[in-house]
Amino acid sequence: MSRFLPFALPDIGDEEIEEVVDTLRSGWLSTGPKAKRFESEFAAFLGAGDLHAIAVNSATAGLHLAVEALGISAGDEVIVPTHTFTATAEVVRYMGADPVFVDVDERSYCIDADSMASRITTRTRAIIPVHYAGLAADMGAITALAHEKGLAIIEDAAHALPTKLNGQMIGTLGTDCTVFSFYATKTIATGEGGMLVTRREDIARRARVMRLHGIDRDAFDRYVSDKPAWWYQVVAPGFKYNMPDIAAAIGLQQLRKADRFRERRALLARRYDDAFADLPIALPPRRQGDSHAWHLYVIRLLADARIGRDELISRIAQRGIGTSVHYVPLHQQPYWRDRYSLRAEDFPVSQELYERGISLPLYTRMTDDDQERVIAAFRDLVLGR
Ligand SMILES: *Cc1c(COP(=O)(O)O)cnc(C)c1O
Repeated sequence: MSRFLPFALPDIGDEEIEEVVDTLRSGWLSTGPKAKRFESEFAAFLGAGDLHAIAVNSATAGLHLAVEALGISAGDEVIVPTHTFTATAEVVRYMGADPVFVDVDERSYCIDADSMASRITTRTRAIIPVHYAGLAADMGAITALAHEKGLAIIEDAAHALPTKLNGQMIGTLGTDCTVFSFYATKTIATGEGGMLVTRREDIARRARVMRLHGIDRDAFDRYVSDKPAWWYQVVAPGFKYNMPDIAAAIGLQQLRKADRFRERRALLARRYDDAFADLPIALPPRRQGDSHAWHLYVIRLLADARIGRDELISRIAQRGIGTSVHYVPLHQQPYWRDRYSLRAEDFPVSQELYERGISLPLYTRMTDDDQERVIAAFRDLVLGR
């Protein structure tokens, strides 16, 4: 039997290894010159000159800094999709505020614009759309609604590097904040890591202070000429969310490969599309003219498929192929379900995607032969062979 093909693997080359070794030899392990370079190269990669990029140790940290900088607090509500990872909603609870869960749209698997509008109250402060699987959410409708109601937008772009909407890179749309993830399975990986991106000077400044214990560097700099090197000013009870240079070293090299990685993922996705065109499944949604990061390739079994989701996952695993489910939606998670009395029937699209959706392996280190194996096994099982 052939080796087990995992669901996901990071793509680390000699360039990343040499960059990390260089960091280890430099004597500077925590946040320093490489984190600073990663921030400026990341902003340049997104392609807008006026962006602040703030490196953090996870996207969860970045999302937390974003809601904190926006002043979201107890009594406030923040709109989130139910079909996401728990981090999207948990940061709202960190501030004592309440997430309001909304179903997703069948055409994108991202937050549904119509249901979103119906959930806005006088307490709503912000919307956190997720660019699910690497396809941009319907930002036209989200931005229009946010404008009309005076709401902030924080994009959860953990899946969306690089993604374009109408030719424009996610991260440069001019929303209040965008947060990317470099977790081990994401399109570029530093092990743990994230990047908060914003054009707003006030958010950038607050996030930089709160990223490192509430130490105000600008206050520090103002006095630096007549104060000793050990002197600093704490202006708030901040967090420990800075990105170490060891992670930034990996990120610098991964970033240089991000476009090449996306092309390989897009090619693999096209091959799956072609190989599955005749099967009783819904292929992943996409939008004409927009570029998709293809972080995930999520198919949905249709009602007339001969096999169920659970059986397919266990039988394809017997053939040595790893798959996954994205996600067990938040309305099915005990904490969220019980605290907010969430019912599956209020989230029909998400529930259906959960019950019948499967994420197939899609990553740059997959060979053409690996993919042929997945295609053959998947076709056999869906066709009941
Ligand atoms: C991975 C992920 C996160 C969290 O990213 P970390 O870097 O692991 O904190 C947040 N939201 C979504 C949608 C994710 O997939």
